[in-house]
Amino acid sequence: MIIDTHCHLIDEAFHQDIEAVIDSALKADVRQMVLACCDETEFPQIVALSQSYPDILFSTIGIHPENIAADIHQQFDTLFGALAPLDGNAPSDAQPGIVAVGEIGLDLHWDKSRLDDQKEILRMQTEWALDHDLPVLLHIRDAMPQFLDLCRTTLCPMASERSKQLRGILHCYSGNAEQAKEALSLGDFYFGIGGTLTYKKSLVPEVAQAIGIERIVLETDAPYLAPVPHRGRRNEPAYTADTCRALAEILHISAEEVAQKTTKNARNLLKI
Ligand SMILES: [Zn+2]
Repeated sequence: MIIDTHCHLIDEAFHQDIEAVIDSALKADVRQMVLACCDETEFPQIVALSQSYPDILFSTIGIHPENIAADIHQQFDTLFGALAPLDGNAPSDAQPGIVAVGEIGLDLHWDKSRLDDQKEILRMQTEWALDHDLPVLLHIRDAMPQFLDLCRTTLCPMASERSKQLRGILHCYSGNAEQAKEALSLGDFYFGIGGTLTYKKSLVPEVAQAIGIERIVLETDAPYLAPVPHRGRRNEPAYTADTCRALAEILHISAEEVAQKTTKNARNLLKI
């Protein structure tokens, strides 16, 4: 079986046919899907959808760096304040079915003016994840040096203060092999590989070879970034199977081994 560790099934692209989409995923042996949360408006919808598919769909909670509000502290309180207070409860007590805090991170692709706010809300959300013993689902775009720096100076020390290790997925990994190695020296990270692996001139195959299967998890980021041969159309979790086959070819192992090992990695991290 295969796990899609990152998709956006509450996106309006799926409003008409969500049942069929989940059905084709199951038929393609994609039996579990993690719903990435981008802000406080998405969270209730994600929880509602995942509750209609227990053991198949899983919720996350988080504020995407491109979705930060003018007042990040108020936004943080709106989303996380509705849950149980930080009293050492298990995440399942705070809100059933949350498997990670995400997608959170840094994005300097379009707007570079709010890097300080992006860093601060990433720190706050990572702290919440550590206090609830949850992994983080990271969105890092054009900001790997800044992210590694924040890990070194702030996030990792925060984890060690709690005698924990920072753990999570670098979703849609677009850094280089050297940066992946550095991330692994700082925390317990896995690298999310999706459709971009299959694109012409993509650097992801080379990076995936350097990282190795023991640290890779599969994802779609559906409805975005469909893998070849579906490129340009709506992406959906069933296509994780296409990425699985492409990765098998690149790593010179069988698709079964890719499925088995990436599923084991995702389970280790997300406890699903
Ligand atoms: Zn995403």
